[in-house]
Amino acid sequence: MIIAVDGPTASGKGTIARALAAHFGLPHLDTGLLYRAVGHAVARAGGNPDDPADALAATGFSDDLLADPALRSEATGALASRVSVHPDVRAALLERQRAFATQPGGAVLDGRDIATVIAPDADAKLFVTASVAARALRRYLEMRGRGDAASREDIAADLAARDARDSQRSIAPLRQADGAALLDTSALPIAAAIAAAIALVERQVGQNTPNRHG
Ligand code: C5P
Repeated sequence: MIIAVDGPTASGKGTIARALAAHFGLPHLDTGLLYRAVGHAVARAGGNPDDPADALAATGFSDDLLADPALRSEATGALASRVSVHPDVRAALLERQRAFATQPGGAVLDGRDIATVIAPDADAKLFVTASVAARALRRYLEMRGRGDAASREDIAADLAARDARDSQRSIAPLRQADGAALLDTSALPIAAAIAAAIALVERQVGQNTPNRHG
């Protein structure tokens, strides 16, 4: 079974995807981490994330980088969003994501274009979203918990800029795929959001499975 989870930054999609993977006993790939690794690698090499050739050169990052906590920072997220607009970068990361999705037994992948590009035939598709205010509050509390200083206004402005870049790019823009179920987590505690996600997946898988008893 392949489960595709898409949505904007801080919508809860990563937490939901991990919980779905645990619930259904499937491996999970956070595809944002691949773009974050490219963004981090291009900056480390002194390259320009807006330059397609510099960004493409950074797609040859070593797998060890994926475990680096620096990838989780807001600064790396912004770099990831900039390198992700380049078609060559997306093409270079495509095969790895497809191979993960189609492994025997299935998988859960989360990102921006999983249901639209990477795994359009996924058995279940969720589009997880939340208001900018709800997402900015979550990110603010998360950052404060880590001891990072940031204002909610700055975080909200950064989220809105990232949403605009991810939704308006010409290749693989962030959008709800045909057949994807919408899950708005703005007013949901995380346990309720996970329960809702499991119910939506079960409903979609039930609908997509032919009834063998007639
Ligand atoms: O999900 P996360 O915030 O880690 O993603 C970082 C950035 O990587 C996103 O803002 C987006 O620009 C890019 N991304 C993408 N396609 C994906 C996953 C992430 O373009 N499948």
